[in-house]
Amino acid sequence: MDIDAGADDDAFEDARERVDRPMLRLFTEYGRGQRGAFAVGLVSSIAARMLDLLPPLLLALAIDAVIRQEAAYSLFLVPDAWIPPGQSARLWLTAGVVAASFGLGAVFHWSRNWGWNKFAQHVQHAVRTDTYETMQRLNMDFFADKQTGEMMSVLSNDVNRLEKFLNDGLNSASRMVIMVVGIATYLFVMNWQLALVALLPVPIIAVFTRRFIETIQPKYAEVRSTVGKLNSRLENNLSGIQIIKTANTEPYEADRVEDSSQDYLDANWDAIETRITFFPGLRLVSGIGFVVTFVVGGLMVIGRPPGPLTASLTPGQFVAFIIYTQRFVWPMAQFGQVINMYQRAYASAERVFGLMDTPGRLAEVEDAPPLEVTEGAVEYDDVSFGYDDEAVLSDVSFDADGGETVALVGPTGAGKSTVLKLLLRMYDVNEGAVRIDGQDVRDVQIQSIRRAVGYVSQETFLFYGTVRENIAYGSFDATDEEIVAAAEAAEADGFVRNLPDGYDTMVGERGVKLSGGQRQRIAIARAILKDPEILILDEATSDVDTETELLIQRSLDDLTADRTTFAIAHRLSTVKDADRILVLEDGRIVERGTHDDLLAADGLYANLWAVQAGEIDELPEEFVRRAVERRARTDADD
Ligand code: ADP
Repeated sequence: MDIDAGADDDAFEDARERVDRPMLRLFTEYGRGQRGAFAVGLVSSIAARMLDLLPPLLLALAIDAVIRQEAAYSLFLVPDAWIPPGQSARLWLTAGVVAASFGLGAVFHWSRNWGWNKFAQHVQHAVRTDTYETMQRLNMDFFADKQTGEMMSVLSNDVNRLEKFLNDGLNSASRMVIMVVGIATYLFVMNWQLALVALLPVPIIAVFTRRFIETIQPKYAEVRSTVGKLNSRLENNLSGIQIIKTANTEPYEADRVEDSSQDYLDANWDAIETRITFFPGLRLVSGIGFVVTFVVGGLMVIGRPPGPLTASLTPGQFVAFIIYTQRFVWPMAQFGQVINMYQRAYASAERVFGLMDTPGRLAEVEDAPPLEVTEGAVEYDDVSFGYDDEAVLSDVSFDADGGETVALVGPTGAGKSTVLKLLLRMYDVNEGAVRIDGQDVRDVQIQSIRRAVGYVSQETFLFYGTVRENIAYGSFDATDEEIVAAAEAAEADGFVRNLPDGYDTMVGERGVKLSGGQRQRIAIARAILKDPEILILDEATSDVDTETELLIQRSLDDLTADRTTFAIAHRLSTVKDADRILVLEDGRIVERGTHDDLLAADGLYANLWAVQAGEIDELPEEFVRRAVERRARTDADD
């Protein structure tokens, strides 16, 4: 088996290709709710940048009209009558207006930041929670083939990247547009000939930037893809650390991580090389433009405009021109950076929406009614099913009357868990139907099925939280008394009271470690508290010692007494009292009946029983041969 299988394809590639105009969607679906903040950001940006442009103009005025007194003194919007006559008074007035524009500018810069940040943070929050909710509803298939690292990377990196663009990117973009348009307009009004010279680099920068985008785009895609794989590898290794240690494969794993990290480094470096060449190049182009403007403008001031140019310039205008040109250069150079940010955000938006659009969700009939459980009768009507093309269940038919206990036994991989996943509607049948009290599970609300059917699995996952919270998980309004009563019924109360903080002991990934048997009793308490009409016990007592098993069995007997129960068990002793036993082999029911019926039939069950009861040493040749064949088939599949 190739353990690297699947690591080479980018899990979201298909999804990415299907997404149409992700940035537009981002703004229309998520930006809409934050229109106010967006407007504040935009209007403040315009106001702040306009105020930024004022000081050089006032400087020109001061030089030409106050210091050199070669031009008339007039202030925009201020009536001439208000302007004082003296030279120094005019200088003070000019300085006062400069100070005021800085003061007001600061206020607008504040509200600009407030607006853009509020917009970006809220959109980010909405996108993240929505993506998580969507992901949670996806079909189980999705989680089986997608790496959790990939998922984490969408939920954190990609969502953060969108926020960065919405904040920094929009901010820079608006500054760019305002500065470039504002300055260009002003330059043309002041001196169109020199303005033409100053704007000469613009088309060159445009072409240059376009080339850059085309080059960097595939490189960023590669970076995203390699970081996803690296995360998957790291995540996978951390969860498998015990196996790595016991298998002595630390050097092997270290090499594999190094390879993944090297791929990421290479991809990143490739992108970095392009990026770090681009920005200085851009600066160089704009710098040359600046020098040319300086020379041509200077010649105009001293009355000797070069070539066909005829315009003249005052010293004050020359200074303002130079300052503006310099201010102009930077936003132009930033153009590339904004595009860059946009490209990254675009890729992230594609991944986010790709995940959101994943069609893995089981379709729910519109206005489906909730499941109504009266008897708790379950019917499998000629059910066939496969996770992919290969059939896992074929022609499975059986009934369970309300209150009955049905046991499913058979070799590993026979399809026992799969049968019950269909009852919970984790998957849809390919043929036939599963009905609860006559209602096809496809025709009722999925949530109502999950409410009515309790599930205690072989592996009990404990959430990080207290024991109390873990027992009440899913029955959030249970009282303390009910929680304790459930724990007592599950024979868990005793050990819970001995934990350091009793019911308030933190358990789960970062909390106190519980043994398999203890976890299972918590899961059983959870099921008792939930009090579902139908119960699934998936090897519920597999993980415990014989003594605990007896205790659990006692509490389970109570729990299952008058509710429909499906129990999967390897140890046949735990199910021999079941009302009905179904023996599965290769996705088919090969035998059925009560324990006594099956013993009398002397088939697979009777032989398994004999082995487990120690009556015979091993299965008859025929069964062993079938088991070996089966193994060979599954191995070949892998
Ligand atoms: P059992 O519970 O009897 O051990 P399962 O129902 O778990 O058997 O598995 C039946 C078959 O379906 C096995 O061949 C198993 O490899 C396959 N299978 C189980 N889960 C999945 C899945 N999520 N995707 C693909 N195949 C699966």
